[in-house]
Amino acid sequence: MDDTKKYGFTTTILHSDRKKPIEHGSLHKPIHTSVTFGYADARQLASVFQGKQAGYRYGRQGNPTVSALEDKITAMEQGSSTICFATGMAAIAAIGQALLREGDHVVSSSFLFGNTNSLWQTVNGQGIDVSFVDATDVNNVEAALTPATRVVFVETIANPRTQIADLKRIGQLCRARGILYIVDNTMTSPYLFLPKSVDASLVINALTKSIGGHGHALGGSLTDTGLYDWSQFPNIFDTYKRNSSPQWGMAQIRAKSLRDFGASLGPEAAHHIAVGAETMALRMERECANALALATMLEADDRVAAVHYPGLPSHPQHALASELFRAYGGLFSFELKDGIDCFDYLNRLKLGISASNLGDTRTLVIPVAHTIFYEMGAERRAGMGIAESLIRVSVGIEDRDDLVDDFRQALPS
Ligand SMILES: *Cc1c(COP(=O)(O)O)cnc(C)c1O
Repeated sequence: MDDTKKYGFTTTILHSDRKKPIEHGSLHKPIHTSVTFGYADARQLASVFQGKQAGYRYGRQGNPTVSALEDKITAMEQGSSTICFATGMAAIAAIGQALLREGDHVVSSSFLFGNTNSLWQTVNGQGIDVSFVDATDVNNVEAALTPATRVVFVETIANPRTQIADLKRIGQLCRARGILYIVDNTMTSPYLFLPKSVDASLVINALTKSIGGHGHALGGSLTDTGLYDWSQFPNIFDTYKRNSSPQWGMAQIRAKSLRDFGASLGPEAAHHIAVGAETMALRMERECANALALATMLEADDRVAAVHYPGLPSHPQHALASELFRAYGGLFSFELKDGIDCFDYLNRLKLGISASNLGDTRTLVIPVAHTIFYEMGAERRAGMGIAESLIRVSVGIEDRDDLVDDFRQALPS
């Protein structure tokens, strides 16, 4: 790569490994399975431990295969550094583990991935106060802030109802108040949207989804965009203030969460995700086009009661999505008319597979209220706008006409 040239998204991902030499000219970063790393000079080992010299010590805190993936994600998000975790949830849990203390306050969007919602409930019971607000309007976020608010947390396009947070204005608000702004970019991926462009401080990606893309490896990441001034953050321990302040936050997260809680990404999974990432832009283009075709067909059919997809002009935040995102994503949800059983509909699909992942190459469908949002109960579901008949579709890369035919033939005559 020519470091003076600005390359496109896919070129950068494909060639980023070769910025650092790889043994034997291998085009893929090798899978380093070693748990530990030996040094010829014991003093060197001590300097690595003391952070005076870069290097690997023990697999839980870092591994060369995982580092190569971290560098790729940093490049994708145009950030300053990234830490990978075993899952997307582990990356989100790191916020509570490493950055929050008793008495702190968090403002979170109420439109959340189900397990993130459950995680915030747990954190709430551990002495940290979490307020849930409708984050499609910055005024609701502002009204919830207190002097103890340390973090504002939102998703880009909420799963499964596709509400879009007031991303830009929340960013301006957090920046003005010195609050850490954390954006879960999983539903858009760094190909469709850069949270850094709306002043996000930290970006979460569930690598399991679009970045890995083939549903064959779990992983998560947390990227520092470099925009947040960590010297304003009250919860940094003195030990992590040894280097310059832009590095404080990630130094504390790598130690207090990754090292101490130990949800490390394995090198084999990192390799699968890195290979998947090479084709992310191609897959996303196809998934977004397929999703728009399916959502358009279903919305026009009178057996369908509602379709939620930011790419439809009927979506309440269609204009915002058009302004912020390169395309509208590979996920939509819809409700069938009363009297049509959602289970029967799903069972008539020949291509859409009843399964709970997202961002897979194959189209996956799930009856939301009966599965991923079952545990939270009917009242909280209603508060999140989840109809009991809601079907979520994670659109794959199949040929468009095959998908449209399949979703149409499954409607009852
Ligand atoms: C799947 C998902 C997560 C969690 O990722 P895992 O790798 O399954 O732990 C977090 N946020 C969003 C928006 C997701 O879709």
